[in-house]
Amino acid sequence: MDSKDFKMVTLSNGIQMPRLGLGVMFIEEGQEMQNAIDTAIDTGYRLFDNAALYENEAAVGKALKNNGIKREEVFISSKLRNSEQKYEKALKAFDLSMKTLGLDYLDMYLIHWPCPEHDTYCEAWKALEHLYKEGYVRAIGLSNFQENHIDKIFGMCEIPPVINQLECNPYLTIEPLRKYCHDHGIWSEAWFPLGGPAQPLEGEPLPEEERLLNNPVLKEISEKYNKTVAQIVLRWEVQSDIITIPKSSKPHRIKENIDIFDFCLSRDEMQKINSLNRDLRIGPDPQTFNLLF
Ligand code: NDP
Repeated sequence: MDSKDFKMVTLSNGIQMPRLGLGVMFIEEGQEMQNAIDTAIDTGYRLFDNAALYENEAAVGKALKNNGIKREEVFISSKLRNSEQKYEKALKAFDLSMKTLGLDYLDMYLIHWPCPEHDTYCEAWKALEHLYKEGYVRAIGLSNFQENHIDKIFGMCEIPPVINQLECNPYLTIEPLRKYCHDHGIWSEAWFPLGGPAQPLEGEPLPEEERLLNNPVLKEISEKYNKTVAQIVLRWEVQSDIITIPKSSKPHRIKENIDIFDFCLSRDEMQKINSLNRDLRIGPDPQTFNLLF
């Protein structure tokens, strides 16, 4: 496997995107964000996954500007809030994100959740198509869309989505949905790629022994390669053709999480990790999640 080419994927519209990036949800504005972005850029990250909902677009924009990296060297992704899926609202929300980030184009813009009860995501898709055709965004995609939602998009779209960002890791491998996406020219991108934060968005934290990063099978594989369990999980993702966006605000972990391009899991190890699936969803179920935040 050529490790240089392997770091990038080519989306169905021909543009290139890094296989691994930094998720910035919950990274605090100010010094924490600056340190995270500086460390990420120093260690080779070029993809930054953001969303209006995270309320730190301004901090990301500022940190990138302070860092001094050229605009064309980074791949910035953001997402449309659920409350803004009507056509005009979506265009305004995009404008606001651009102003807040301090950018004049985005590399990728996603519909954050389908929110099926409100039935407005096709209207939102029309707005994203407009932004794409006008050259404000280089690629458009979805997040948390299941097969039935994607079918509806394909039933009306002029421009097909290139990405679907989904909760995914070895405990939630969502193989049928990933295959469906692949068969429709859509790359899967994993959120909660390391199993998510210790304190889930709702409810009680998982007991320590049930957390993905404490899994004994992963631990055994990690010892063989002299890597950490997090690195094995991220390597499984990129080798499974899943784009991945681990979040850390800690410089040593930001470095650790991208140091996965110098080894290769065997077919048997990939299979072993696939079989850890327990359909364990920590985040909301996209079929029933309709919150307009
Ligand atoms: P992750 O699976 O990336 O886990 C992040 C947690 O793991 C943090 O608590 C972090 O702590 C810790 N961590 C990071 N690296 C390591 C390591 N090497 N070893 C041990 N622990 C580690 O979950 P996220 O929720 O952050 O998801 C990633 C990104 O996905 C988000 O930042 C966001 O961009 C996106 N996302 C998208 C959603 C969507 O609906 N589209 C929903 C949720 C997230 P610390 O910071 O202290 O290192």
